[in-house]
Amino acid sequence: MSFLEREDKEIFDLIEKEHNRQNEHIELIASENFVSKAVLEAQGSILTNKYAEGYPSKRYYGGCEFIDGVEDLARERLKKLFNVKYVNVQAHSGSSANMAAIRSLINHGDKILGMGLDAGGHLTHGYKLSFSGQDYESYTYGVNIETGLIDYEEVRRLALEIKPQLIICGASAYPREIDFKKFKEIADECGAFLMADIAHIAGLIATGLHNTPVGYADVITSTTHKTLRGPRGGIIMTNDEELAKKIDKTLFPGCQGGPLEHVIAAKAVAFKEDLEPSYKVYMENVLKNCKALADEFIKLGYKVISGGTDNHLLLLDVKSTKGVTGKEVEDLLQKVNITVNKNSIPGDTEKPAYTSGIRLGTPAMTTKGYTEEDFRLVAHIINEAIEHKNDEEYLTSLKNKVIELNKKHLTF
Ligand SMILES: *Cc1c(COP(=O)(O)O)cnc(C)c1O
Repeated sequence: MSFLEREDKEIFDLIEKEHNRQNEHIELIASENFVSKAVLEAQGSILTNKYAEGYPSKRYYGGCEFIDGVEDLARERLKKLFNVKYVNVQAHSGSSANMAAIRSLINHGDKILGMGLDAGGHLTHGYKLSFSGQDYESYTYGVNIETGLIDYEEVRRLALEIKPQLIICGASAYPREIDFKKFKEIADECGAFLMADIAHIAGLIATGLHNTPVGYADVITSTTHKTLRGPRGGIIMTNDEELAKKIDKTLFPGCQGGPLEHVIAAKAVAFKEDLEPSYKVYMENVLKNCKALADEFIKLGYKVISGGTDNHLLLLDVKSTKGVTGKEVEDLLQKVNITVNKNSIPGDTEKPAYTSGIRLGTPAMTTKGYTEEDFRLVAHIINEAIEHKNDEEYLTSLKNKVIELNKKHLTF
């Protein structure tokens, strides 16, 4: 019997239920992944007991000699992973990393130009309900409604007209490679700083499968729990020494208090894994699987936004193809043990609570060992669920198929 089971049966039982859910469902949420046992162990360690406000060798508390070692390892591994000079590994999340990065670059009330939420951008890139849309005068660029692609000429036109102090590139739901060099040219032309938020595609960049923003962006932020397959958290990177100092001060004491050193230890473990040759093979498989998934949906007659994918995710237009909303498909797939999220598509006429699309990602199931063949089968199961959406018996048979398929792969 575990300590938790003995001490707190209610929480233990809920964790067990979630554990079973994670093993019995096909997880296609593009921002999720399954961490290794080593990452879990580090995050669940006694490091959580320690206060360590400050940075290695400059702490406000005594007894940090081993904690310093942990954070230094995380920092050194991260520098190596992305080939950058300065990093901060203390951000509690991708959003706090963005807050500290933006505050380090510009002043309250300055103008920012980021990708719109409806086009695939993130809340922290200037959305009205986020600090980024409240503390700054925010403007958005989108994608071309026909092609689904970022129109760099349009971004340039907007940038020259608005003259923002900061341009943010990077997205949560954009299936194509981002041209950081072009963004840098635009930023230079209008005298703006450039921030690249690589939360989703960090793993593709770390392994050289996508072009890197290092050398172009003034600051780069990311999460550690998406393609990087680490614990939930954020990171900030730059090659500018002065900016690096400012970022450290802005994050602590500017935005946060004591760092989560147990999470930083887990980040270090994940970065070590990400530096292994096997991680590159994993990321290559994520790409192959995503292409197979997109390809199969196209064969089945679906409209895939932008006609395919260059990365770990794809956007499916279910409304124009099958006459159902993203919300309906999300709920329907829940019944067959497939987890996806509804997502707006370019020029969406449905409200954000319904949407015309769904977003599908391959990182999590690739970690479980799913192959291209498995993902082609997944496309068929999703299609059959939509075609038999009112046939409960048929849906149950699909759910059993999903459970069987998962039994053939790794469980955690
Ligand atoms: C996921 C994501 C974030 C934020 O991450 P949280 O850890 O949820 O705060 C930031 N930017 C982008 C582009 C993301 O996709």
